[in-house]
Amino acid sequence: MSFFGMTKILLTSLFRRPATRLYPFEVRAPYPATRGSIGITVEKCILCGICMKKCPAMAIQVDKPSRRWAIDRLRCVACNYCVDVCPTKCLTMKPEYAAPTVTRDTEPFTIPPPAPKPAAG
Ligand code: SF4
Ligand code: SF4
Repeated sequence: MSFFGMTKILLTSLFRRPATRLYPFEVRAPYPATRGSIGITVEKCILCGICMKKCPAMAIQVDKPSRRWAIDRLRCVACNYCVDVCPTKCLTMKPEYAAPTVTRDTEPFTIPPPAPKPAAG
């Protein structure tokens, strides 16, 4: 590169915003299509277990008798397949990343029992 070419780049860089951010003080807003972490609306889950069967990373556990739905966030590869196959659309791909962790615990959710049907008559 010529001397003049280098000087031009140097002068331009002096007056340009830095290309990097001072994380964690300045956090970039997520893009709308960011695949961050799986969220669940527990009231809509019917414990059918389809998400557990289809998850390629075996990250989801569904236990119908104890009404427990759990996810191992370190296993999840954010493929979005569970969101696509859930029949009640209770799973969502949130654009935020899960908090860092040093343990391999799963994150459990208790699924509430279905609301009683109104009495006939
Ligand atoms: S999250 Fe969806 S697919 Fe998974 S058990 Fe609940 S209803 Fe079924
Ligand atoms: S996003 Fe993919 S890897 Fe993660 S829990 Fe859903 S199906 Fe499994």
